[in-house]
Amino acid sequence: MQSHFHQLLFHVHKERPLVYIFFPILTHVPSFVKHAVDHASCPIVAGTPDVMKAAFTKEQDFFGTRNIRYLDPALSFSEPVRMKRRLFEVFGELLGVTEDESDFAADEGLRALERFDLDVQARGRAILEQVEAEDRLAILLIGRPYHLDPGLHHGIPDEFQLQGYPILTIRSIPKDETWLARFFARDLASGRSQSPLDINDVWPENYSANSAMKVWATKFAARHPNVVLLDLSSFKCGHDAPTYGIIDRIVEQSALPHLALHDIDANKPGGSIKIRVKTYVHSLKLQQERLEVVARKKAELGPLVGRSALERAQVHASRLVARTSALATQDARQLLSSLRKVAPYLPAVAKWAGTEGLSMLPALSEQAQAGLRRWLAPSPDQRREIERAEAPAPERDMGNIVQLRSRGSKAQVASTGASVNA
Ligand code: SF4
Repeated sequence: MQSHFHQLLFHVHKERPLVYIFFPILTHVPSFVKHAVDHASCPIVAGTPDVMKAAFTKEQDFFGTRNIRYLDPALSFSEPVRMKRRLFEVFGELLGVTEDESDFAADEGLRALERFDLDVQARGRAILEQVEAEDRLAILLIGRPYHLDPGLHHGIPDEFQLQGYPILTIRSIPKDETWLARFFARDLASGRSQSPLDINDVWPENYSANSAMKVWATKFAARHPNVVLLDLSSFKCGHDAPTYGIIDRIVEQSALPHLALHDIDANKPGGSIKIRVKTYVHSLKLQQERLEVVARKKAELGPLVGRSALERAQVHASRLVARTSALATQDARQLLSSLRKVAPYLPAVAKWAGTEGLSMLPALSEQAQAGLRRWLAPSPDQRREIERAEAPAPERDMGNIVQLRSRGSKAQVASTGASVNA
């Protein structure tokens, strides 16, 4: 950062005189991660504007001697209303604008930021769709926003691009939840995550915006077959420290190819970085081959898998029909045989249940007994039939009946002309 300031003050200013340098202290930055505890910036990054001011004013005021005004207000994207107020306080008088005009400009700025994000995501989506269609790999760079600076990423992403691997950043991954749902379907179905942009399943106490975004990006890469990771960290990063274990676990469980280059500013990494880039490229080639083999197998087996699924469904259906008819026949047969066994006893059982049976069930509640009595009580018609059946048969006068023939299957009764089975 000091080099950039040096460049501005000692070179750019000579060619194009500067009036203001605006370098805000961003305490909270925009974040897409949902259900996070907070969206705080790294305090070292947030404090850098003050550090720069101190560095260039301590011995001599390099801004004042060049008539440059240094503006470093503290701003929070988590509190847009206060942020707009603060911007008006800083710029209202300098630019000669009213508060409404200042607020309008701030809203336009936020909208432009949103449009920019959507544009970057559209480009990221195009890359992802291309590598999916061509069974290739893309490298997702997980780092801090300052790793976009070539002075801080040491040209590492460029090395990979030269080898033919497109580079994605956390910001360029689409954040459209409908699009992401196919990668996070299991997490959502199991209730592990409330949203595809949620990281509480792996890190519930996340308050650092950029660290949380790194963890989310790792989760995404672990679920996308064409994405591998490049994890950059410049120093002994206090904010990265709690994410190391989480990222390692995700990488281990998903067998995600992963190159972590940490402390890249702690020494002169030029040569060793090149060796590690080559090693990673070699392992990526193997991964690419695996991807191609899987794609070929899918293409070959796809129709077969579809056919065998259909055949399996037919077999299951015919088994189900056979089983159902066997059960129906068997059940019907068993029911008939049971009925045959109990049928002769039914009248006696009914009589017993109606008279003595109930008295043997003292455990039944009054209500149950009443219900059972109602159920067993015959209707008026049934009662009449029962009474008729139980009435003693009238004595018959058999005196005028003459048996004419008793041999054979029929006996004829001459006096009545009726015939009965003998
Ligand atoms: S290395 Fe980590 S702690 Fe240091 S400035 Fe970067 S994000 Fe902050």
